[in-house]
Amino acid sequence: MKIAIASGKGGTGKTTVATNLVSYLSKNKKVVLVDLDVEEPNSGLFIQGELVHEEDKFKMIPEWIQDTCTLCGNCQKVCNFHAVIQLGTQILVFPELCHSCYACSELCPTSSLPMKKKKMGELKEYKDNNLSFIESRLVIGEEQAVPLIHQTLKYVEEKFDNNIIKIFDAPPGTSCPVIEATKDADFILLVTEPTPFGLHDLKLAIDTMKELKKEFGVIINRNGVGNNDVENFCINENIPIIAKIPDSRKIAELYSSGNLLYDEIEEVKVELKKIEEFISGLFVRKVRV
Ligand code: SF4
Ligand code: SF4
Repeated sequence: MKIAIASGKGGTGKTTVATNLVSYLSKNKKVVLVDLDVEEPNSGLFIQGELVHEEDKFKMIPEWIQDTCTLCGNCQKVCNFHAVIQLGTQILVFPELCHSCYACSELCPTSSLPMKKKKMGELKEYKDNNLSFIESRLVIGEEQAVPLIHQTLKYVEEKFDNNIIKIFDAPPGTSCPVIEATKDADFILLVTEPTPFGLHDLKLAIDTMKELKKEFGVIINRNGVGNNDVENFCINENIPIIAKIPDSRKIAELYSSGNLLYDEIEEVKVELKKIEEFISGLFVRKVRV
């Protein structure tokens, strides 16, 4: 069972929900948290564990061999991403723009653009009893999150059984990294705030999930700060509201000092239990299908 936690924008409490939920679930079952916000992973601020594995992650980039190149110009023509250009008698490759599609390399008539490994990030796995936590982080200067998200999901897929609940902390927004992080999930929990901005970004996130033909529900974070528009919208659109995390000064204090909430705030625990029951229902439905 794969559950992605996403939001139409950053700062809505997506990571708060993800980290508290996995820690809560791990009290009585095995669970995996995967931080796929690879540009700025911060679940690790709230989840402790023993480092059990680490590895570098690579992408493949063409490397120009000047001696055999006939300057035919094919490579520049086939690259849809303008990652390889011909400048006079030089072929320049821009690794930041390259999507590792191999087209230039395979279509070069003189094999002058062999693909070479380039480090794009690091993956680390931590363990704390029932909880496994996987975090990937792009190296500084690397701009493409999608290949690292893809490789991280592959690692999780190969390593963990399908019966284990996997929670993906997706990047914020509605762009390609979010799509990569959510496209294989069984269900998406969209975290939002009950404010006009929250509703605006929630609608964008919902449009993206509909495009992907994903099932989704909403978690309202900081419930009580704004108005009822998010709630009314969900009711009118028949979108399940799975939980409402309350707004409080105590929560803000715990969060800012890197602490989980549910042990100290009973209302949060009650809401996490609702999410747990919802996930159990999904699990039963999946087994029956
Ligand atoms: S396709 Fe190959 S031979 Fe042609 S310009 Fe590019 S690198 Fe040179
Ligand atoms: S591998 Fe694909 S994206 Fe990268 S430079 Fe070659 S054609 Fe462009």
